Amino acid sequence: MTTEKPACDCLNWCGDDPWLRDGRAEPCAEAKKREADRQEILAIKDRVKALAASAQDKGLVVIDAELMASIHITMDRLR
Ligand SMILES: [Zn+2]
Repeated sequence: MTTEKPACDCLNWCGDDPWLRDGRAEPCAEAKKREADRQEILAIKDRVKALAASAQDKGLVVIDAELMASIHITMDRLR
């Protein structure tokens, strides 16, 4: 995907360029990775909440192996 926007010009920490907030700049690779990580964590939180709700409804607690693996991968990446 090509864009006419300049990449962000972050000063103190990646993502602090005010142009990112008003859409005048395109996020750099680091900012995109941070956002992808954030979205992944939100998705995992949603899945955990849904699992907990369904487990409560059924009167049991079950965490499938795929979910546990994705939680471990995310935790390792955040370290
Ligand atoms: Zn940046």
